Amino acid sequence: MVGAPGSGKGTQAERLASYFGVRHLATGEMLREQVRRATPLGRQVQAVLAAGDLVGDELIEDLLYEPFLQASREGGFILDGFPRTLHQAERAFQIALDAGATLHAVVHLDVPPQVLLDRALSRDEGRADDNQATVRHRIEVYEKQTQPLVDYYAGRGILVSVDGLGTPDEVFERILKRLPPV
Ligand code: ADP
Repeated sequence: MVGAPGSGKGTQAERLASYFGVRHLATGEMLREQVRRATPLGRQVQAVLAAGDLVGDELIEDLLYEPFLQASREGGFILDGFPRTLHQAERAFQIALDAGATLHAVVHLDVPPQVLLDRALSRDEGRADDNQATVRHRIEVYEKQTQPLVDYYAGRGILVSVDGLGTPDEVFERILKRLPPV
């Protein structure tokens, strides 16, 4: 899944994972869990998360490697929040290769910036990075670092770009209709 903060990518990723009976690998959630448990890694990334910046590519790639491999062995996965940079996208193909897995489709949820801001600010999940300044910053980080993945995956022929406006049910139906057969 590729989508800006507030695009609904977490919600749709969760639905897709339960629909297909596969693991939902959400890197933001994995990082917040480390922060909650105050692990060494959690302490290392806490400030970066709170500021709305991206943690280092190597760090996230290491954190995800084992769960990615394991989920592949167990039948598949929905990646939510990864990849987020071109470097990570290259690594995703490499890890998939290691795991003997295929990246079937990249779902891009397309939502205009003003709607993103309104949505992200109206949700209340108690996240340290959900205040107005940080949400704006996260949207900028997305536009600069992650948006280029849309063209990258279009070039590889696996992009499924979907209008993210509407109810979660409407968006989910739209995604299902557009996914290639697996
Ligand atoms: P959202 O997309 O709504 O901002 P996420 O839960 O996907 O929320 O990510 C929250 C934060 O976790 C990001 O702002 C970033 O700091 C960190 N993060 C998550 N995934 C990655 C990743 N693949 N690379 C770098 N940082 C990440």
